[in-house]
Amino acid sequence: MSEQHSFQAETQQLLNILIHSLYTEKEIFLRELISNASDALNRLQFEMLTNDDVVDAGAELALRIALDEEAKTLTISDSGIGMNRDEIIAGLGTIAKSGAKAFIEAMREKPESAADIIGQFGVGFYSAFMVAKQVDVISRSFRPEDEPVKWSATGGTSYTLENADKESRGTDVVIHLKDDEEEFTRSFRIKDIIRRHSDYVAFPIYVGDDEEPTNKQQAIWRRSPSEIEDEEYDSFYKMLTMDFAGASHHIHIRADVPMQFYALLYVPGSGQQNMFSPRKEPGLKLYARKVLIEEYNRELLPEYLSFVQGVVDSEDLPLSVSRESIQATRVMASLKKTITRRMLSELKRMAKNDREKYLRIYEEFGAYLKQGLVIDSEDRGDLEPLMFFQTTHDDDPSKYYSLDEYVERMSENQDDIYYVVADDYSSGSRSPHLDAFRQRGIEVLYFTHPVDAMLPMGMTDFKGHKLVSVDSAELDLADVGEVGEEEERIEAPLESDTFAALQARVKATLGGRVSDVRESRTLVGSPARLVSEDGSANRYMFRINRLLDKDYELPVKALELNPRHPLMHNLSGLISNGGDEALVAAVVEQVFETALLQDGIHPDPSSMADRLTLLMQAATGSASADLPFAEVKTVISEPAADAQMDLDGIVLDPVDEDNVEKAEE
Ligand code: ADP
Repeated sequence: MSEQHSFQAETQQLLNILIHSLYTEKEIFLRELISNASDALNRLQFEMLTNDDVVDAGAELALRIALDEEAKTLTISDSGIGMNRDEIIAGLGTIAKSGAKAFIEAMREKPESAADIIGQFGVGFYSAFMVAKQVDVISRSFRPEDEPVKWSATGGTSYTLENADKESRGTDVVIHLKDDEEEFTRSFRIKDIIRRHSDYVAFPIYVGDDEEPTNKQQAIWRRSPSEIEDEEYDSFYKMLTMDFAGASHHIHIRADVPMQFYALLYVPGSGQQNMFSPRKEPGLKLYARKVLIEEYNRELLPEYLSFVQGVVDSEDLPLSVSRESIQATRVMASLKKTITRRMLSELKRMAKNDREKYLRIYEEFGAYLKQGLVIDSEDRGDLEPLMFFQTTHDDDPSKYYSLDEYVERMSENQDDIYYVVADDYSSGSRSPHLDAFRQRGIEVLYFTHPVDAMLPMGMTDFKGHKLVSVDSAELDLADVGEVGEEEERIEAPLESDTFAALQARVKATLGGRVSDVRESRTLVGSPARLVSEDGSANRYMFRINRLLDKDYELPVKALELNPRHPLMHNLSGLISNGGDEALVAAVVEQVFETALLQDGIHPDPSSMADRLTLLMQAATGSASADLPFAEVKTVISEPAADAQMDLDGIVLDPVDEDNVEKAEE
């Protein structure tokens, strides 16, 4: 007896799109069905590692394609895991695949692009309806107690289910071809499609009565690299990831000692998640002696290389163990070590010999590598050569330099490596902290990526040179580099007692918002800067917390004033002449907040607008005493005495990294 079921709404939409779109590459339906069959064989194979009690335990694991020109049918049969009634409803009545859902959403937004989009993702089983007027699926599960079942649909809104006769294990998919699709009953055409799209499928595919399989069955990663064309690597990557932008690099490893394994690893071309990719999770596909053990294995590479895609196939992993216990084996540990080393040495080689290509990868995935530097301290030595930064060397933001290059160019008597933390290149380049460095010709690294703020936690020094922030309070450059021509515009420094009065006044106005107010020995063209007395490596964590929308407390810094700057001269004069109180206070506030702004840490820049307007009014002639300076609220309040930086919950996984990226935009 047959019963009727309705398709899930989304399935109907997908069917509609597939049936009515003018998709030219219809032949890919075969690739999709073969891929489903191959998955089913993989799953059966995995099941049989631990379970003998299956239907047809001795049957060959294979696919068969039967063609019937008269009946205009094409049948794809596999001896895989099969489906029972519930599984067939779940598998073929609903859209399980997240990629398919994403596809439908894309179609809702841009229906006219069907033909473009469709080829870009695995459309799965339903792609059969591009060529079929009816599809029957007859399946028998591997479980001896399950009844065989037949599913049938014509691409309308519903499908039927009935009991079936099927002795053998597995699934037959019968395609009743539309009238103008007869070509798919011709064996030369089918064989050609198989060779082009499914040659590597690990199980034999027999066409018609052939005794020899049509496909070579050799997994690409088991073949010799010398006989594999770049195009093959490329198409394997695309098939694996559905990332049609392609990979930027691949590494093919075949090792015999100390372990025998094969690995084909890819660095994706882009760090952007491809919405159609079925591989939404990080992880490598893990095979043990050709049996697919795990679709997403995350134990084979450290977290900081989790952007790498690919396949690992080991001859030494025990086959009879569960997925969980496989993680603990010694083989896994040594595989991880070997693969990680290889990946790192490849990146290092590229950084050295093919910088342009490496920097493209670094642009996409540098944040991962930097996280590795902070977290996996044992790999530090391998990761440091992979770090590249913009620097003040030639004021060209398109140039990136390695730490080694920086060290080679160090100035006379320079021991430390200097960096400036900023939100971006342009604000970094205008930082008042750079005054003294520019004056003395000392190069400074720009730490402008959100993750860079964490780097000092993992990289305290490089080749014996300490990494020092340009905003460190104890910075002393007196002996480093050489001072260029004195700048004429700069006035003589304030007398020490005049400066003391200015200092006292600024201190009184800012109170606990600064830890100290002092005379600067380094500022040249800037009136003031905020320096950090906290030398701890995690003192930039608040920047990360801020980006992640977590609570953060602004660190309290010391304000350095430039005794030579005209503004300080004016202010000092105003104070000693008993000038306008309100104006002095407003200027002091603004000096402080400008310094916050220049460090990219002003919590609410637009709040300064009212004060700036009043200052302009005062500068253009209004009697400043009459101006309502007092009404401009300063957003920065004195921190609570027990304020603590929130270091909890900073997990450096790619999810957080995503947040960082988004917050950056
Ligand atoms: P996907 O394969 O991406 O999950 P499909 O629409 O192609 O999406 O298939 C849906 C589900 O139907 C599969 O996940 C699988 O559970 C089941 N299925 C499809 N073909 C077969 C088959 N030949 N043998 C066993 N199960 C199958």
